[in-house]
Amino acid sequence: MLTFAINLSYLLGAVLFVVGLRMLGSPDTARKGNILAGLGMMLAIIATAVEPLDNSSNNYSWIIAGMGVGGVIGFISAKKIQMTAMPQMVSIFNGLGGACAVILAFSESLPYYTADTVLNGGQLVIILSTLLIGGVSFTGSILAFAKLEGLVRDEKITLPYHNIFNLVLLGIAIVLGALIFMQGADGSLMLVLIFTALSLLYGFSFVAPIGGADMPVVISLLNSFTGLSAAAAGIIYDNQLMLVGGILVGASGTILTVLMCNAMNRSLINVLVGGFGGSSSGSTAAGSGDLVAREVSLNDASIQLNYSQSVMFVPGYGLAVAQAQKAIKEVDDILEANGVDVKYAIHPVAGRMPGHMNVLLAEADVPYPKLLDLEDANAALPNTDIVVIVGANDVVNPAAETDPGSPIYGMPVLKVWEAKHVIVLKRSMKPGYAGIENPLFFHEKTRMLFGDAKDSLQKLITELKNQ
Ligand code: NDP
Repeated sequence: MLTFAINLSYLLGAVLFVVGLRMLGSPDTARKGNILAGLGMMLAIIATAVEPLDNSSNNYSWIIAGMGVGGVIGFISAKKIQMTAMPQMVSIFNGLGGACAVILAFSESLPYYTADTVLNGGQLVIILSTLLIGGVSFTGSILAFAKLEGLVRDEKITLPYHNIFNLVLLGIAIVLGALIFMQGADGSLMLVLIFTALSLLYGFSFVAPIGGADMPVVISLLNSFTGLSAAAAGIIYDNQLMLVGGILVGASGTILTVLMCNAMNRSLINVLVGGFGGSSSGSTAAGSGDLVAREVSLNDASIQLNYSQSVMFVPGYGLAVAQAQKAIKEVDDILEANGVDVKYAIHPVAGRMPGHMNVLLAEADVPYPKLLDLEDANAALPNTDIVVIVGANDVVNPAAETDPGSPIYGMPVLKVWEAKHVIVLKRSMKPGYAGIENPLFFHEKTRMLFGDAKDSLQKLITELKNQ
C-alpha cells in the first residue's frame, strides 16, 4: 500500500512538473505554473522521505535541518534580490544544483571503495558522468555568475590557445574516467578525487573564454547540464521523479540553448570555440572621432511622441537597471489615450537572462499582444514613426549587419534605423554588455535623451500631461 502511494505521488509529481512547465510558457499562466511545479516538488520530497530504505536509516533530523537552512536562505535571498540581479541568482541556483549532483555521486562512490558495496559497470559510468557534468555545471555557473556580476573580465582568465587547453583537459578527464572504470573496486578513491577536481577545473576553463554577447548561450547550456546531472543522480538513487525532473530541466535547457544560438545566428560549436563578443572598453564621451551624437530635449521628445501615429519601445538591460517598467507603461497609456499605436520590440537576448524583458513588462501589466518578437518587430519598424530605445544597446547595434570586423557581426538585431525617428534613453555613451561602440547613436535619425531611464520617462510623463 505504501509503495503504491509513493509511486502514485511520483506519477502525480511528474504530471505537475510537465503541466507547470507548460504553463510557464505564457505570462498569464506562469505564476500558476510555478506553484503547480512547486507542489510537484513537495510531493516528491514527501514521497522520498517516507520511502523505506533498505537499511531503514532515514535520517529525518538531517533532512529537516537541511530543508530548514536551505529554505530560510532561499526565502530571504528571493525576497531581497533586485530584479537586475535575477540572472546572477539563476546562475547560482544552477551551480548549486550541479554541486548537489557532485556531492551525491561522490558520496555514493565512497562505500564502493571503503566498504563492501558493489556497483555494476553501468552504475559506475553513471557516477562518473554525474561527477563530470555536475562539476562542469557547478564551477561553470559560478564563473558565469562572476562574469554577470562584473567581478571578472574575460581577457583576464583566458589563456593563449585556451580552446586547445580545454580539449586536453577534457581528454585527460575522459582517460582518467576510463581508468577508474577499468580498475573497478580495485582502484583508489584518490583517482576519483582527482577526476572530480579535474571536472571542477574544466567547468571554469570551459566558460572562461566565452563572454560578451555569447553569455545567453552559455547560461542556457549550463542549465541543461544541471538538468542532466540531476537526471543522472536520479538513476543513481533509482528515483523516477528525480530522473523525470532532471530530464525536463535538461531538455528545456537544450531547447533554450538552440533558441539562443538561433537568436545569435551562430552554431553551438562556434559559440564554444569562437570567442565572440569579448569586451573592450568603449568610448564614454558624447562623440567618436568626427562623429557627434545629437541630443533631444524632453519637450521636443514629448511633442514628437504625442503627434506620432505609431511608437515602438525597445527595452533593454537599462530598463531593468532603472526599474522603469511601470514608467514605460504609463507613457504607453498616455500615448494610447491620445490615439497613438504603441508596441514593444523584444529581442531574444535583451537584458541579462532569457525572457528578462517579458518578465519586467508583465510585472507592469503591459498586455502580452503588444510585445512583438524580433521578426515581427523588424517587419513593423519601417512603418513606425518613432522608436524609443529604453536602455538597450547591443540588440540595436547596426554593426551586427554592416561591419564584418565587429565582434557581433551576424547577430540578428532590431533594425530600428528603418523607423522614421529614433530616440535613445541612456545615461552616457558607454557601451553595452558586448563592450563595443554603437554607430546607431551617431545615425542621422537618432537623438539621445541622456539620463536614468526611469527619471527620463517620468519627466516625459510630466511633459506629456502638460500638453
Ligand atoms: P546592453 O547591455 O547592450 O546595454 C544596456 C544599456 O543600458 C547600456 O548601454 C547602458 O548605457 C544602459 N543603461 C544601464 N543602466 C541604465 C539606466 N539606469 N538608465 C538608462 N540606461 C541605462 O543591453 P541589451 O539589452 O541591448 O543587450 C543585452 C546584452 O547582454 C547582449 O549583448 C546579450 O548578449 C548580453 N547577455 C544577455 C543575456 C540574456 O540571456 N538575455 C545573458 C547574458 C548576457 P549607460 O551606461 O550609458 O546608461
